[in-house]
Amino acid sequence: MSKRRAPVDELYPEAKAGNRRSLGRLLSAVERGGPAAERISELTVGDAGRAHIVGITGAPGAGKSTLTGRLVSELVAAGRRPAVLAVDPSSPLTGGAILGDRIRVSVSPAAGELDTDPNVFIRSMATRGHAGGLALAVPLAVRLFDAVGYDPVIIETVGVGQVEVDVVGAADTAVVVMTPGMGDAVQANKAGLLEVADIFVVNKADRPGATDVRRDLELMLELSHVTGQEDPDGYRPPIVMASALEGQGSAEVWETVEAHLQFLTETGRRAVRRRHRVGVELRARMMQTLGNAVEAAIQSDMGSDLVTQVEAGELSPAAAGAKLLDGLPDTR
Ligand code: GDP
Repeated sequence: MSKRRAPVDELYPEAKAGNRRSLGRLLSAVERGGPAAERISELTVGDAGRAHIVGITGAPGAGKSTLTGRLVSELVAAGRRPAVLAVDPSSPLTGGAILGDRIRVSVSPAAGELDTDPNVFIRSMATRGHAGGLALAVPLAVRLFDAVGYDPVIIETVGVGQVEVDVVGAADTAVVVMTPGMGDAVQANKAGLLEVADIFVVNKADRPGATDVRRDLELMLELSHVTGQEDPDGYRPPIVMASALEGQGSAEVWETVEAHLQFLTETGRRAVRRRHRVGVELRARMMQTLGNAVEAAIQSDMGSDLVTQVEAGELSPAAAGAKLLDGLPDTR
């Protein structure tokens, strides 16, 4: 049987050779999910695994995009090829043109020209409306950037929701951005971000209250130390003060990110992170497949009959669930 060559098979080598349009089309396929995305996942085998994956998260307005813009400029000046995946669609780095919001774009002075720099690829990813969802699309997009030669790959995201915390927690280096006056330390703690943070950035250090945020963070870190949650290798997330708008502190942020990568490499923990990242990705894929199968089972005639029986008091929900599980189609 002759099989028609999927377009992604042609796009992938083009993207590897530096064709931005082809990479853009591949990323759209990743976003849509489905068989083309699966094929891309296969194509990246053997090519991915080199890039430093950096997650940058924080509340909306914390200055993530401004900071990312600064970091990207510095990386390019240093001869690197960074890619940015902005999971927040309102990001001015990518959203400027889409939203037609010139003011926000001008806020990130670097972003406008960076987007056309051949050594930078910036892409936003819609947070809804694609098959497979964020939990599948984000790791695959990161894998794709890595496979076609971008390094580092920066994931910028608003740190709310389990998927986002998972994504950032699965990076090699997780950077949490905070600002004065938003009670951020406490909120981040609630969202579980303190546990995943490798580096804290207190941005808008030009504003009053920045030292208070730093102190709050230090107290919380001290507390986790006291309660015995300290790192086995003695790592303590550094706190970097920055004023991204003025470009202050961004060089130190990147030095700290690099130092963290070195720590991971020296302690053998980079491999541990990678395994964890693959685990998160696999889990998301399996959950997706199983979730679809469960949904189909409930919607099926048998599912409907069982619901009726439970409703009529003839069967327990546990027994009905077990019957449906027995009847699940082979998910492969
Ligand atoms: P994001 O939503 O986290 O990506 O935040 P943005 O990068 O869009 O920044 C939100 C707002 O904060 C913008 O108006 C920025 O100009 C401003 N901003 C960013 N960094 C700083 C900073 O260091 N100091 C001050 N005062 N404002 C900043």
